[in-house]
Formats: sequence, structure tokens, C-alpha cells
Amino acid sequence: MIKKLVLASHNQGKIDELSQMLAPFGVEIVSARDLSLPDVEETGATFAENAALKAEALSKASGLPCLADDSGLCVDALGGRPGVYSARYAPDTPSRISKLLGELALVPSSNRKAHFACVLALKVPGEEVKLFEGKVEGKIISECRGNQGFGYDPIFVPNGFDKTFAEMSKQEKAAVSHRGRALEKFVKEVFEAA
Ligand code: IMP
Repeated sequence: MIKKLVLASHNQGKIDELSQMLAPFGVEIVSARDLSLPDVEETGATFAENAALKAEALSKASGLPCLADDSGLCVDALGGRPGVYSARYAPDTPSRISKLLGELALVPSSNRKAHFACVLALKVPGEEVKLFEGKVEGKIISECRGNQGFGYDPIFVPNGFDKTFAEMSKQEKAAVSHRGRALEKFVKEVFEAA
């Protein structure tokens, strides 16, 4: 059973969500920042490759089990962009959002389908990396709504809802989000099957 887990991320939004979702399982969570671990360059072409790269590198550096998240927003009308480049699409969150809304300015609401994807990679020292995937479909609206969450949350409305991720509580978002779905698979395998 895993007692201590390093979260391989410097993104506070992801760390907060993962820590909260893992709270019921009594596992001690430390972030890469807590341990002053280096940032790992995301040289992979897919979410899975990048998540595995980060989990392997930081498990090796810390000697502890490590959970890495690689995630992003894929917009149909942009051929899946920004995808694995979601964090590098522009220098900060407001400019990422305005760049995306600019690219979609002439795209009608009927063609604004998008999804968030998340791959969690677990590396336990001495074991193979395990991957857990989650996805949530929805659409991109044309203005920001809400102030919860992080990243592209204010412009993403998941299917079946009238509100953006940024208008949802943490629990509401976790119940349907890409990260929540990937983490559900992780928990089933790592904590419930143990
Ligand atoms: P990376 O996985 O560190 O490459 O970063 C993924 C980027 O995708 C984040 O910096 C956000 O911009 C975006 N992203 C991933 N998950 C979410 C989410 O749940 N809400 C909003 N934006 C997200």
C-alpha cells in the first residue's frame, strides 16, 4: 500500500485538485515543490509520454512513489490544439484564454466542441509505470464565466451542464472532470484492489 506519494507538478491548481481527491485515502501527499525537485521538460508527443516522463524522473529523484499528471484542452475546430501544448500556448492564463477565444472568434457555437484530457502516470520504485486516462467532452464559450478552478476552466462548459468548470464547486468539477475520471481509475487499482 502506498503511504507517501510525490505529486509531480508545479501547477498549484492540479496539486490542489489531486490532493483534495486523494484526501480520503490517508496517503501523505508531497509536491515536487515541497521537495525542491526540478521541473521535468515535457519532450513527449502525447499526454501519456509526458506523464510517464515526469513520473519516472521524479520518482528516481525522490526515491518515492510518484504520480504525474499531464493534461490539456483539445479543441476540435483547431485540429486538437492546444493539446499537449496547453500550458505553453501563451505565457500566462489570461493570454492563453484570449489567444484561444481570438482563434475561435469566427467559429459558430455549433462548432466549438472540445475536450479536456488527462493522463495520470504512477511510478513506484522497482515497478513499471502505470497509466490512467480520463476525458471530459464539452464546448468552448465566447467569454469567461466564473472564478473557481484554474487554467481554461472559465471558458469550458462540460456536456450536460449550463455552467463552466469555473462556476462549479471543486466537488462538482471532480465528479465529471478528466482528472477526476483518471483519478477514479487510479484509486480503484491502487487503493481499492489492495
Ligand atoms: P501540463 O499538463 O503541465 O502540460 O499543463 C496542462 C495545462 O492544461 C494547464 O496548465 C492548463 O492550462 C490546462 N489544463 C489542464 N487541466 C485543466 C483543468 O482542469 N482546467 C483548466 N485547464 C486545465
